[in-house]
Amino acid sequence: MIGIGLEGSANKLGVGIMLHPDDGGPAQVLANIRHTYNPPPGEGFLPKDTAQHHRAWVVKLVKQALKEAKLSVDDVDCICYTKGPGMGAPLQSVAIAARMLSILWGKELVGVNHCVGHIEMGRMITGATNPVVLYVSGGNTQVIAYNSQRYRIFGETLDIAVGNCLDRFARTLRIPNDPAPGYNIEQLAKKGKRLVDIPYAVKGMDCSFSGILAHIESLAASLGLDGASGKDFDDDADQPEEAVEVDASGDAKLTRADLCFSLQETVFAMLVEITERAMAHVGSKDVLIVGGVGCNERLQEMMGTMARDRGGHVFATDERFCIDNGIMIAQAGLLAYKTGFRTPLEESTCTQRYRTDDVFVSWRD
Ligand code: MG
Repeated sequence: MIGIGLEGSANKLGVGIMLHPDDGGPAQVLANIRHTYNPPPGEGFLPKDTAQHHRAWVVKLVKQALKEAKLSVDDVDCICYTKGPGMGAPLQSVAIAARMLSILWGKELVGVNHCVGHIEMGRMITGATNPVVLYVSGGNTQVIAYNSQRYRIFGETLDIAVGNCLDRFARTLRIPNDPAPGYNIEQLAKKGKRLVDIPYAVKGMDCSFSGILAHIESLAASLGLDGASGKDFDDDADQPEEAVEVDASGDAKLTRADLCFSLQETVFAMLVEITERAMAHVGSKDVLIVGGVGCNERLQEMMGTMARDRGGHVFATDERFCIDNGIMIAQAGLLAYKTGFRTPLEESTCTQRYRTDDVFVSWRD
């Protein structure tokens, strides 16, 4: 069985094709193509511009994916698309593209929950059968565990997503959005040496990031490290000079790298804490990290230390699979499709709010 998956809930447009062999053998990735909309440094991606990007690229990506998979339209069994959650206008562009293909090709639609897509992709790639899942991205922050045909949410952010906190701090520092603001923060954080004390906001099983962001933004401004000058951040030009600068008290001045390092250490520690509590609660030793922030090697390292202390493992994937993509939608879509799930054309809507635990997971025991 072959499914094509269309993803466009944020600034990545992804088209992927998955094969589920009839003999029950392992699923195979036949194509995984992505095109990212990147605004200039200091700016975030706006819904209307992102939607325009998706509309401009979707046909090209679908054609390219079919070519790469060496398939014709007749080989495709179903068209899977992201129903939500995500940004309204980008979601709509992709839902309309999916509907158009459904009518044009005469194939059935499968609306997929984006978060469930991440979970199923992560489970397939890593082979982790029943881990506690940490889903961390620009739009989502959730600790999830499976029970009785639902992915249950054990903890989540009370305000902005952890990835949004990191991305917006990149904007404050005017760090480039290419290839990804969070990736550039991660590289800069590796050069950081001093851990600054910033708020730590775990509330029970939940986290809060907006106050932390406000705090570190004002700290950056007070140090003259924000983008108030209007100049873009230049790693080579800024770093060596900054590192030796000394303030009036004779202490070395904090650098952008120190701030990125401190921000990462603090917010990742919060995520490790709530994930560990969920693992203790459900009696699981393994943790799977999915979503764009899941590529961060420092987060993987910190989570790995905790999991090892509990006698377990951390499972994570690289950017091909953890950053939003089309195959995760095809993968989750095919699992549902095989149990008889269909999205009729007249119900092929999309929605900005679609919680992970709203989905009936018919394909698991
Ligand atoms: Mg995502």
